[in-house]
Amino acid sequence: MKANCYMGRNTVEVLDVPEPRILNAHDAVVRVTSTAICGSDLHLVDGYVPAVKKGDVLGHEFMGEVVEVGPEVANLRPGDRVVVPFPIACGRCFACAEGLYSICENSNPNAGLAEKLMGHAPAGVFGYSHLLGGFAGGQAEYARVPFADVGPIKIEDDLPDEKVLFLSDILPTGYMAAEMCDIQPGQTIAVWGAGPVGQFAVAAAYMLGAGKVICIDRFPYRLQYARRAGAYTLNYEDVDVLDALRDMTGGRGPDACIDAVGMEAHHPTPAMYGYDRVKQAVRMETDRPYALREAILACRNGGVVAVVGTYGGLLDKFPMGSLMNRSLTLRTGQCHVQRYLRPLLDRIRAGEIDPSFVISHRLPLSAAPHAFELFKNKRDDCNKVVLTP
Ligand code: NAD
Ligand code: ZN
Ligand code: ZN
Repeated sequence: MKANCYMGRNTVEVLDVPEPRILNAHDAVVRVTSTAICGSDLHLVDGYVPAVKKGDVLGHEFMGEVVEVGPEVANLRPGDRVVVPFPIACGRCFACAEGLYSICENSNPNAGLAEKLMGHAPAGVFGYSHLLGGFAGGQAEYARVPFADVGPIKIEDDLPDEKVLFLSDILPTGYMAAEMCDIQPGQTIAVWGAGPVGQFAVAAAYMLGAGKVICIDRFPYRLQYARRAGAYTLNYEDVDVLDALRDMTGGRGPDACIDAVGMEAHHPTPAMYGYDRVKQAVRMETDRPYALREAILACRNGGVVAVVGTYGGLLDKFPMGSLMNRSLTLRTGQCHVQRYLRPLLDRIRAGEIDPSFVISHRLPLSAAPHAFELFKNKRDDCNKVVLTP
């Protein structure tokens, strides 16, 4: 079968690879009908995630048709249409019982490797390095889905792929970011990053009662998407973000701040950008935390900073003094997608949100290298790419 494979820094190639098979009684094999490229894939391809190997099949946002199930998968049958959540979770461990699926204790066969870096291991994730289990991803014609009796949600009506595909990751992730803000009616929320995750965080913040959501980025076309979701927008190349947010909130600061940017943040000041890029290159820090630094400094006293942008390791110049002295709460996590599938599918069905608004490009899987280039370099107003095998 064809699959999009990591072939080295900044290089992906669609190659012929062996078809997946059922390896465990809880597995299913899914014929992928739609798959997407995520900002998280860029961190891999840009070389910021350790333990990705040449030939690894990428992709963690996918859906399709079940073609085969293991003997323990009683809830699915061949022919069922499913969306597959990106974290792999057993549904039975301590973490899963708490609804914390992205830190499942049973799904990462390389937990020992992750423990060395992080203290404890997170869950396995499709197509996301050997640190997170070394599972083949979903940018492929077929994918093996472990714990298929727990994760995938069946789509039983005729909702098109485009409306439900993003249940696999970015819609729940944006929603979880807003949920972590404990929004009280009418509050002001600021979102760094007007990528697809930031756009869904904007939409979700309004769903959860925000009065005003302000989104920050530098690409006008992406800020336009955020405005379509209802946001006020700031271009950080035109304004001083901290000053502007103070002005928009009567001097107090947003009630909660969301980081939907992560480790590859950009900074408009060449000196600052250069400083962190050099430290990153020599591994004195692994991540460039501009958006996070700014989100902390901007947040009002006693507010919440919710981080869904992905970080890999160590930060420099982290404003701990600001966080501590001003009684801020820092909340974060890879999304516990499984717990949001049903409620968000209900919202899609009810017409409260049509997640397909983020799609800018629809391409065949064979065009994955071109699609990565467009998405990474923000060319052709690329916002979100859906690939069809
Ligand atoms: P994306 O790359 O499309 O968007 C990121 C946006 O951030 C870009 O538009 C970029 O211009 C903007 N940006 C860069 N530096 C900035 C700064 N200093 N201030 C404001 N904006 C800045 O990515 P995406 O798909 O929207 O994902 C966003 C982040 O969320 C990534 O780090 C991704 O890995 C992460 N993510 C996390 C989860 C999770 O479960 N926690 C799930 C999906 C994605
Ligand atoms: Zn993703
Ligand atoms: Zn578990």
